[in-house]
Amino acid sequence: MNILLLGSGGREHTLAWKITQSPRCDQLYVAPGNAGTGSIAENIAVDIMDFEALKESVKTYNIDFVIVGPEAPLVEGIVDYFQNDPELRTIPVLGPDRMASQLEGSKSYAKSFMKRHNIPTAGYIEVTAENLDQGVRFMAGLQPPYVLKADGLAAGKGVLIIEDLDEAVRELKLMVDGKFGSASQKVVIEEFLDGIEFSVFALTDGKNYILLPEAKDYKRIGEGDTGLNTGGMGSVSPVSFFQGDFKKKVIQKIVAPTIEGIHQDSLHYTGFVFFGLIKVQGEPHVIEYNCRMGDPETQSVLCRIEDDLVDVFYQAACQSLEAQSLSFNPETACTVVTVSDGYPGAYQKGKVIEGLEDVADHVFHAGTRHSEGGVLTNGGRVLAVTAMDEIPARAMEKAREAAGKIQYEGVYFRNDIGQDLLELSEE
Ligand code: ATP
Repeated sequence: MNILLLGSGGREHTLAWKITQSPRCDQLYVAPGNAGTGSIAENIAVDIMDFEALKESVKTYNIDFVIVGPEAPLVEGIVDYFQNDPELRTIPVLGPDRMASQLEGSKSYAKSFMKRHNIPTAGYIEVTAENLDQGVRFMAGLQPPYVLKADGLAAGKGVLIIEDLDEAVRELKLMVDGKFGSASQKVVIEEFLDGIEFSVFALTDGKNYILLPEAKDYKRIGEGDTGLNTGGMGSVSPVSFFQGDFKKKVIQKIVAPTIEGIHQDSLHYTGFVFFGLIKVQGEPHVIEYNCRMGDPETQSVLCRIEDDLVDVFYQAACQSLEAQSLSFNPETACTVVTVSDGYPGAYQKGKVIEGLEDVADHVFHAGTRHSEGGVLTNGGRVLAVTAMDEIPARAMEKAREAAGKIQYEGVYFRNDIGQDLLELSEE
């Protein structure tokens, strides 16, 4: 079949790498893609938020199946657009519809979903300009720090964690006054959960699901998880503490009830459920849902899946996912992301990238583009290298070494991806 994949990050290059290995895939198109996807599939220059233009591409390239990488087109209703168009209705799209994507697109929707289905998460209250006083009273009854979340999507910047109550109250007022535009007219105030974060992924057709390998990601720019938040600086899979009784608990208390909840609420949800979880004194809690795979978790997760994924993606999108378990490579996958100088602040693009051919491990492209002069940087997060080894520390070392071979002006990466997991295993 002809497949259209939407997106242009490291996640999409990894998906494209996996999809093109499948005998079910005749031709893969990626919109808009990057230099990496362009080397294994055909990139098409279409804006993925322009659904009319996507429709034209689907017709031009005889697309049989659409896979959506990032959340923005899902939250904007791409699945609904296909379902409502007589010419597109028969083409399955892997991803939840607009309503179901609210599990990621609205913190308030996600929290009430969890409450309704008895899924463990931090206690919370919803606040708008109308019940600001109630929000202030709720915070006064909590221990610091205070967690304030803009209800809507705010490009990963809508969550504030504040030590001081007076400052938290000031920020709350600014938020409901529109600090993050309409995204923060409603604010979710949550209890702070102190624990270790990790992510679990499921592929679902809205009723059945397959569990994918879990991962831990590293969000901050600086080593030791310090400094500003980024899109993600690295990831590791598997997560050493996700096993035995704790794994059973996560499935019984979180994964299964979430999929059951989706079914009970009659949501049209196909595709990935990303569970952002935190382990607090042995108990798992949901921090957030995302309605797509993570980047750079996809790199570590997909490198460990040995089976063909196009079959299961298609079954999920057609709402007929068969009960099956996938084979995972037991080795550790470690992904290290190289970024542009200045990221996550301002940075320059167009730097020549060298050393790609010296890396024996997987190199997934994110912010890159082809030019006559070779491959150039074209974004903040530039490349992700994923190395594997049966010894976790060795996988991490290999990934670091591989990242060190990549050269462009101002290249930076973290040298400590996965180190905390090694320390945990020693305890
Ligand atoms: P992302 O960029 O991960 O999608 P987001 O903007 O959707 O983030 P959340 O994932 O809800 O927001 O929160 C961002 C981060 O803030 C979490 O990864 C976690 O580290 C921290 N956090 C959120 N809620 C809590 C909480 N209740 N207790 C402790 N830390 C929290």
